[in-house]
Amino acid sequence: MLLTISTTHRPATDLGYLLHKHPDRVQTFALSFGAASVYYPEATADRTTVALALDVDPVGLIRDGNFDRRFTMGQYVSDRPYTATSFLSVAIAQVFGSALNGTCKTRPELAATPIPLTATIDVLPAAGGEGFVRAVFEPLGYAVECRAHPLDAYFPEWGTSRYLSVTLTGTLTLAELLTHLYVLIPVFDGQKHYFVGEAEVEKLLDKGAKWLATHPKRDEITRRYLRHRPTLYTDALTRLDEGRADPADGDADAPVKASEESLETPLRLNDQRYEAVTDLLTASGAKTVLDLGCGEGRLIRRLLRESQFTKVQGVDVSVAALQIASRRLRLDGQSPADRDRVQLIHGALTYRDARFAGFDAAALVEVVEHLDPPRLAALERVVFEFARPRTVVVTTPNRDYNVVWPSLPAGKFRHADHRFEWTRAEFAAWATEVGAAHGYAVAYHGVGPAHAEWGTPTQAAVFTAR
Ligand code: SAH
Repeated sequence: MLLTISTTHRPATDLGYLLHKHPDRVQTFALSFGAASVYYPEATADRTTVALALDVDPVGLIRDGNFDRRFTMGQYVSDRPYTATSFLSVAIAQVFGSALNGTCKTRPELAATPIPLTATIDVLPAAGGEGFVRAVFEPLGYAVECRAHPLDAYFPEWGTSRYLSVTLTGTLTLAELLTHLYVLIPVFDGQKHYFVGEAEVEKLLDKGAKWLATHPKRDEITRRYLRHRPTLYTDALTRLDEGRADPADGDADAPVKASEESLETPLRLNDQRYEAVTDLLTASGAKTVLDLGCGEGRLIRRLLRESQFTKVQGVDVSVAALQIASRRLRLDGQSPADRDRVQLIHGALTYRDARFAGFDAAALVEVVEHLDPPRLAALERVVFEFARPRTVVVTTPNRDYNVVWPSLPAGKFRHADHRFEWTRAEFAAWATEVGAAHGYAVAYHGVGPAHAEWGTPTQAAVFTAR
């Protein structure tokens, strides 16, 4: 089993620094299932290629009971030694661990820089065929080449096997490439050489959160990665959906453990919130909307379905969130006309910015609670004094409601990045003060199922300029 990675970044021999493996040496590593060697078939300033070769010991595998007990390939003849499977992922993590995590002491800036890379996986047991290989890698920005292997070299008339040699070419960081390979190689194979449990969900979210949430084959990748175990993949999918694996994205809601029912709930709180904000903005008569702290663009996507909104501009301080937003908005197959209605800009809400002026309305959806109080005061001036849209819709968690969620420990916030969560009285006190200071009338709304005593999980205020 062989994986090669080449670069034409100059000097290409820097690949050795990125991988912490010297181009002049052949190194071997003992792994639980066999051995891995790393060597460089070519190492020039123009082009350097590293090879990771796995020597899986099929006899040792069975003897050591390395397989999941349900593993039926109990004969000493198997494709494991020759094909790219979860063994390769383990080898990547063990042999190229720091590169996988994007750390490089000697060339930190290079580790963070997209460079031209080509990876060849020889041989991938491609369940789902070439179409699925393309559907998985192309949305991640790779040019994909597949070469089918004949079932038998001497009898071409037998046709091709399910094994493919796959070459991926793209410009990205080495850590991104390794992360994609680490997560996706096992997805093409029906077996995993270890038991698939909760830890696998964490691994998937840890390594996949940045790019899997918006991947068009997200569901299928997740299901296959977690070996079709429903309790695991519903948990993973729900968490990907809610962006909870990424602390920069703060729209986590019910901290209840995801279950299959929660996936089937027709409208989760997140969606209800976007619906409610869309309704409030529509009712305000606004045509142009500024989405402040737009995150991954979910509200924008919803707003674009209403023809009333002729221009929607999203602002966020997180470049990663904006990248997901731009992908999400394009992925959804927006027409070119829609694309002209949207703009995403990188900016901070705590600094006066001329680009925020001239909008009919602004939305601050689940954003204020991410700011420390002194910064919140700056945001108030930026929005209500300088940008001054006629309407401002603000939503934030209602802390009163937290007791309704049994799995949320008392005194804990719904999201690790929240600096505070307001009770209804605290929110009203803040809104009244802001309204009075800047000349806005305030009306309150609840979002989500109302509890007789504790109100709704999300609280909203609509500020209208007097
Ligand atoms: N409104 C979005 C995202 C809410 S999460 C939604 O409901 O889906 C909060 C967002 O606010 C994050 O994307 C975070 O990056 C952004 N944010 C936090 N502080 C910010 C600041 N000072 N300037 C700009 N964006 C900020």
